[in-house]
Amino acid sequence: MEQSDFSVFFEPTGDPFVDAGGIALDYLRQVYQDKNLPALIRLAADIYVTHWDANLFAIFHGSKITHKAYVGKAKITGTVDMYETILNKDSPAMTDNCRICGHEDVLYPVGRDQYCLAGSKAFANFHHLHEDGIFVCPSCSVKLFFLPLTIVQMGGMLALLHPTSPESKTYWLNKTVRENLDRVGRQTAEGILKHKLSNPRNALFEIAYNIIDENNKHKKEHLLLYHFTNFAASPACEIYELPSPVFKFLSIMRIGELKEQWNTFVRRHYRISKSSWNEKTASWSDKDNNPLSTDDYRNNHNDVFERLLAGKSILPFMRRYARRCFLHKKIYNSLISSHYAREVLHMQDKQIQLIRQIADTIIELGQKMDSLKKYLVAIEGAGKAYQLRGVLLKIIKDNFTSGQAEPVITLDDYVTYLFPDGQYWGEIRDLLLIHLYEKMHAANLVDQLIHDEDIQKSELTLTEEM
Ligand SMILES: [Zn+2]
Repeated sequence: MEQSDFSVFFEPTGDPFVDAGGIALDYLRQVYQDKNLPALIRLAADIYVTHWDANLFAIFHGSKITHKAYVGKAKITGTVDMYETILNKDSPAMTDNCRICGHEDVLYPVGRDQYCLAGSKAFANFHHLHEDGIFVCPSCSVKLFFLPLTIVQMGGMLALLHPTSPESKTYWLNKTVRENLDRVGRQTAEGILKHKLSNPRNALFEIAYNIIDENNKHKKEHLLLYHFTNFAASPACEIYELPSPVFKFLSIMRIGELKEQWNTFVRRHYRISKSSWNEKTASWSDKDNNPLSTDDYRNNHNDVFERLLAGKSILPFMRRYARRCFLHKKIYNSLISSHYAREVLHMQDKQIQLIRQIADTIIELGQKMDSLKKYLVAIEGAGKAYQLRGVLLKIIKDNFTSGQAEPVITLDDYVTYLFPDGQYWGEIRDLLLIHLYEKMHAANLVDQLIHDEDIQKSELTLTEEM
């Protein structure tokens, strides 16, 4: 059969496994233009069996590649024969619309031996009407066979990236399919590629950083990472989503001086038992005060990553971190929080600008009336919306009685922009405090405002809150 005799649909189907296999097949047919489809299937089967020692138990459960009934070359010939039957459209189960791509074609039932997590034929009630598998067309069936070339081992499971943009697709293709072919060419292929991280959440951020760094103007992306296994009795799948606003925010955090500050903030939020964070060196030490390297904790839980993936705000973390920086006379650039508020929390520029402006007034007024510490304590202690509003009203009043020509905020700005409907008031407090800490640090006010016992007290509170 010539390659042109059988056309594969390469448009995305939405199924991550089929689409990833399709990307691998599409790349292979461009590299090996002299090979037809059965020859490409043979080539992939040869990689799996000869170079990877047929170790695909977590992908093709009970297939001809992995089943012990097939030995040596029989694994390859058995597989190629099976796909040739499908490509020749011999003995189909029916003609109908493919359950994955929707094209009308001859269909074959596929189970876990060909399609990860598709359900097992052994459990007749897994599929509709007790069918033998999911009915798919030859095109989807063939694409699934190339899936192993596009996945990586990540901890005890496998990982597959489902990117949306051409830049991300190219990145993943280079990291997986091309890397696999290079290793086969160099005779160093040993099996499915291993990702250096085993924690899929942390790995997804690492992947996002790499994509951003390789395409520095690239800001629109929505990444899905499938962390799965089709292994024997314990098939499983977790899906991690890095949404587009978070990706855009991360792309801003890879630029200039924000990058180092953001990385330090993230590093501070790993969960590491029996260790302590050294504020001076911005690094972790173990209980004997020996420094820990990134490799020691890079797979640990990270609260910042986990909250970003869970769609929860990291602004409270930023506020606490900014406070610590202020107390320890370290810089925290509030732009990190402003970008986060804009890109991820969807705060309007005008609102962020107003909060910044109010922080300026509070510093100025507080110094003039010797009431800065009082304002700060009141804002920090505001646990309810009305308490924050009460502090702001007090500041507005103090501003008026002190004879300032300009109001702290106009009524219109207060109602329309500072406290818009639907905005969580705590975000306004947190951003206001972050700006205040930064400005107080710039004005070198820490010694004037905070005494040792305050620092100790705040450390205690912070620990409890964390
Ligand atoms: Zn199909």
